[in-house]
Amino acid sequence: MTDRRHILHIDMDAFFASVEQLDNPQLRGKTVMVGGSSKQRGVVAACSYEARKFGVHSAMPMIQATRLCPHGTVMPVRMARYVEISRKIHHIFHNFTPFVEPLSIDEAFLDVTGCIKLMGSAETIGQNIKKEIKEKIGLTASVGLAPNKFLAKLASDLDKPDGFVIITDQNKQQILDALPISRIWGIGKVTAEKLNKIGIKTIAQLRNTSPDYLRKILNNQTETILNLAQGIDNRNVETATEAKSISAEQTFAKDIDTKETLLEILQGQVEEVSARLRAEFFQTRTITLKMRYSDFRTITKSQTLQQPTNTTHVLLQEAQDIFNNWHKHTAGPLRLLGFGAANLIEQGKGQQMLFSDPEEEKFKKVDSAMDEIRKKFGNDALKRGKW
Ligand SMILES: [Mg+2]
Repeated sequence: MTDRRHILHIDMDAFFASVEQLDNPQLRGKTVMVGGSSKQRGVVAACSYEARKFGVHSAMPMIQATRLCPHGTVMPVRMARYVEISRKIHHIFHNFTPFVEPLSIDEAFLDVTGCIKLMGSAETIGQNIKKEIKEKIGLTASVGLAPNKFLAKLASDLDKPDGFVIITDQNKQQILDALPISRIWGIGKVTAEKLNKIGIKTIAQLRNTSPDYLRKILNNQTETILNLAQGIDNRNVETATEAKSISAEQTFAKDIDTKETLLEILQGQVEEVSARLRAEFFQTRTITLKMRYSDFRTITKSQTLQQPTNTTHVLLQEAQDIFNNWHKHTAGPLRLLGFGAANLIEQGKGQQMLFSDPEEEKFKKVDSAMDEIRKKFGNDALKRGKW
């Protein structure tokens, strides 16, 4: 038996759209879609809960979103502002525990097991974090509390927005059993379809099937998936200093085939990742693109950079090169696209060039100026053209 752990998963509600509603009070309670404008083949990066009621979702072409929701307000992406707020949220997390694992700009796991003696029950800690985010920042978060990461992430999603759901060893099987198998990490669309075909739709049906029978479909994933189906997950919360990468990825509701749309999504991801690198004083040596096809095959393409960097211009160029190369040879409709920066070094540490490259210096100044302008006016306020 492992010791009982108390893991929180905290996920901001409709993060980009909520920040826009926070900064523009006239948008509160209204349908807000954040992303590129429809004329520029833009896509929805995030939308408010009010917009979701009309069927709008992220990664949807903006032109389609504005058709579904003609009265909605389209706001430009202001990544630097979201990163700024994300940092404030992380400060709040760190007031409670050093064991914080950021998953993305608006999500993190916290292991609060060691804080209980000092700060009250895990539930109290979770409620206090939620309260502090609301009071100090003005945004709502959904919180899941559970004995492990898988269940905590599941819990935070069960009662969005502004939710607080606790999954315990006592109620976990009852909650899991009713859910569709697609809620288990590692069961994608294709696997889910195969299992559905043989009558396995719920987690209850899955765990009542013999492992030997399942192995024909799940192969070497069988044990892991059956463990998850019983709410067993022993992975640790990995703190930020141990984090080896910063990444952004999106799963699309419908597969995307259009090159321009994918490139636009990629650009947004590079902007997000590079802004986070700068905000956390990291530079990256290795970047990776992740592409998942409609049949769930996933490939990654990596590139090691000549010099570590966190400059958007350089990272975007490299990412586009990788993308174009992939597109030329193995393009296909994608259900997921992601961009990650790994092999991180702290800025100012590691190898220094004897003379700094004046070109690189120029781009650095451009980035910090753009970070400031974007905070106010959004990513579209300054389009990266030729310099
Ligand atoms: Mg979120």
